[in-house]
Amino acid sequence: MTTSIRPLIAGNWKMNGTSASVPELVAIGKAFTHGFDVQVDALICPPATLVARAHDVLSSTPVRVGGQDCAITQSGAHTGDISAEMLKDAGAGFVIVGHSERRTDHGETNEIVQKKALAAWRAGLTAIICIGETQSQREKSLTLDVLTAQIEGSVPQGATASNTVIAYEPVWAIGTGLTPTLPDVAAAHAHIRSELSRHLGEGFETIRILYGGSVKPSNAQELLSVQNVNGALVGGASLKASDFVGIAEACRPA
Ligand code: PEP
Repeated sequence: MTTSIRPLIAGNWKMNGTSASVPELVAIGKAFTHGFDVQVDALICPPATLVARAHDVLSSTPVRVGGQDCAITQSGAHTGDISAEMLKDAGAGFVIVGHSERRTDHGETNEIVQKKALAAWRAGLTAIICIGETQSQREKSLTLDVLTAQIEGSVPQGATASNTVIAYEPVWAIGTGLTPTLPDVAAAHAHIRSELSRHLGEGFETIRILYGGSVKPSNAQELLSVQNVNGALVGGASLKASDFVGIAEACRPA
């Protein structure tokens, strides 16, 4: 973790959660409010149906709320889509764009992801832009090339630390219990940092680069201690307050 950048621990609930999950949100909010002395930002991205509820429950706590995807346009004839402005109106401050499940299940290209990041900015949201290689790309030693192409294609010019977070999520590590070796995480994050510099020219130095893929309390400390890892994007382990808080606690300096 680069110490000058305050880490962000972001939870992606994916298509999980109903009103029965509200007590879990309450528990997360409480944990970060009372006696939580770790210097870390926390964010929960519930399904869109819970964004307003999450905002109601968490707005008096340090925990922020985000969406998991947004449309490119602001409004109009796009049945089922939700715009960044709508997420903002419901209380979101962030939105994930380009998650590998969106890229795979919905055919989202780098170009679409870039437009979604711009839509997030238009609404005043911080875009969490996800990138990462598949298993077959990794086996062909294409990881760094894939990251370069995704940064060039998905990250709009004008990205800064206040409007953008990058999440490096090796697709093969998501939900599998597998994680890259620490040297592999370090190499990917160093590459992303240097490609952001090449691509953006300026403003890149303090952009947070999260690691995502099977992060849990038991491996968070080692993953979060890697250079240029500025937090985590957490799927499964963010559904339980105790696990999510346990991951955030791993940001405590040793
Ligand atoms: C994710 O979906 O962004 C993710 C990292 O999932 P998990 O933590 O479950 O691997």
